Amino acid sequence: MTRPGPCSRLAVLCGPRLSKREPHRTFSPFVRPTPDAIRRDPDGVRQHLDAWRTAVATQLPGPLHEALARLQQSRTARWCTLITRTIDGLLQKAAAEHVIELEGSLFRLRCLQDRSHPRVEIFGAQRHLRPCGICGGPLRPDVVLPGEPLLALDDARRALSTCDLALLVGLDTDPVLEALPPGIQRLVIDPGPAVSLVHQLAG
Ligand SMILES: [Zn+2]
Repeated sequence: MTRPGPCSRLAVLCGPRLSKREPHRTFSPFVRPTPDAIRRDPDGVRQHLDAWRTAVATQLPGPLHEALARLQQSRTARWCTLITRTIDGLLQKAAAEHVIELEGSLFRLRCLQDRSHPRVEIFGAQRHLRPCGICGGPLRPDVVLPGEPLLALDDARRALSTCDLALLVGLDTDPVLEALPPGIQRLVIDPGPAVSLVHQLAG
């Protein structure tokens, strides 16, 4: 692998396979409810996502999360943007400085009525639905549900459209890669061998 030069701009796109032991990928209860379910049965959805959040909250980052965070901190590249489809916050737990979360996070709530209202951080169970501080409406997990648009898409597209090298970790392709200009090198690496390769990049 060619190590990027000091002026390189790196975009790293992380897929759901980044976390090998993501509970929601292993156990069938951890499937995402539909947007309609949130309106029909908000309490059931809250309990469901509470169980998911609680399971993920005790999980520690793996070697690949650590390696990617180190790559970002290493200043190998002029900038290194981490873009992820995971919602488990493990890159941040590994001390990644800035992560673009395309599918949101289990550890944030947002207003059900207006997504521009301030997010609220949450680390445990959402036992009682706290109302939105602006409009008093109910809050819902800030997680992209099936059929909903991705979050922070402009930020992700900006990073991809201006990078010199795109690393794809834990996915082979993704619709957001349409933002990658033709001719920009993309490197697909499986989560297994990725740890040593990312460390090699970080120097
Ligand atoms: Zn609100």
